[in-house]
Amino acid sequence: MQINLISDTVTKPTKGMLNAMMEAEVGDDVFKTDPTVNKLQDKIAKMFGVEAALFFPSGTMANQTAIKIHTQPGDRMFCDKWAHVYNFEGGGAAFNSGVTSHLIDGDRGMFTAKQLNDAVSGRVDIHVPWSSLVVVENTTNKGGGACWDYEELLKIKQICMEHNLALHMDGARIFNALVAKNETPKQYGKVFDTISVCLSKGLGAPVGSVLLGSKLHIEKALRIRKLFGGAMRQAGYLAAAGIYALDNHIDRLAIDHTRAKIIGTALQNCKLVKYVEPIETNIVIFNVIDAINEEDFVNSLKKAGISLISMGQGKLRMVTHLDFTEEMLEMLVNTLENI
Ligand SMILES: *Cc1c(COP(=O)(O)O)cnc(C)c1O
Repeated sequence: MQINLISDTVTKPTKGMLNAMMEAEVGDDVFKTDPTVNKLQDKIAKMFGVEAALFFPSGTMANQTAIKIHTQPGDRMFCDKWAHVYNFEGGGAAFNSGVTSHLIDGDRGMFTAKQLNDAVSGRVDIHVPWSSLVVVENTTNKGGGACWDYEELLKIKQICMEHNLALHMDGARIFNALVAKNETPKQYGKVFDTISVCLSKGLGAPVGSVLLGSKLHIEKALRIRKLFGGAMRQAGYLAAAGIYALDNHIDRLAIDHTRAKIIGTALQNCKLVKYVEPIETNIVIFNVIDAINEEDFVNSLKKAGISLISMGQGKLRMVTHLDFTEEMLEMLVNTLENI
């Protein structure tokens, strides 16, 4: 048995999802005539209570498009020092938008409204980049699947309004946060100017993300998506997987969260593990003891058929997902007990 916990992106479409894809009605989405893409966009926009949505080939492109529509070259965006938009999108904010990133020293990928206020309230004159955007990531990836406090987000929104800053959410795993905290998409739709949502992470679609926002923002996004080369033709086959995922794979995220917590306990009991970070959703981040090398630890699990990745700085990561079964969980826990 091979157990792949490298990411929640490793899942393959289920039979039901494949059937939905095979049966999808399609058209040319560049001419806006793919009924299934239109259906996905309408459906998710309604879920979040926003005016419009746009289907993207990746979360990176959806985030980069959001950064582009909210900024001008030379502007500054604010995000946590661990943010995906800063660390893991190839320097796209600088490359695509000419934007400087002001990194906030948050906790587990999350900063407070006070930290943001301190960052935006500094010197304001011609020496300082124009401030135009704040990006929040929920759940945080490098922060170990941590979920933001909704009240804190409302305070952050307030600061954005006072300083005329756009507010974007990198919601690659927003549904994990919603399920874990028992919140609704509409709560987030009304706070953020734009939200990106991955369909290909915990939701289990093979490809695709969506950007949500006002009609005006999404009209601008449509141009940028074309410019970035992300306008697709009979994309309805992929959108059908997204619709299926929204209908069938949201509630079950709670199972991934429970299994992640069980893994956390097993790691805590494992003599080779030094520290396990708090687990709120489907991401487990931990450090091994100083006496062993993290690469050796990864390799010995690999020999037992278990794959995980290193996040750098001694952190190792396991992510639970749709294709990680109860049987695999038992085997993993067993292996950790005996390693
Ligand atoms: C995965 C991820 C993205 C988007 O990644 P793609 O692989 O381009 O879809 C964006 N933000 C976070 C936090 C992610 O984990």
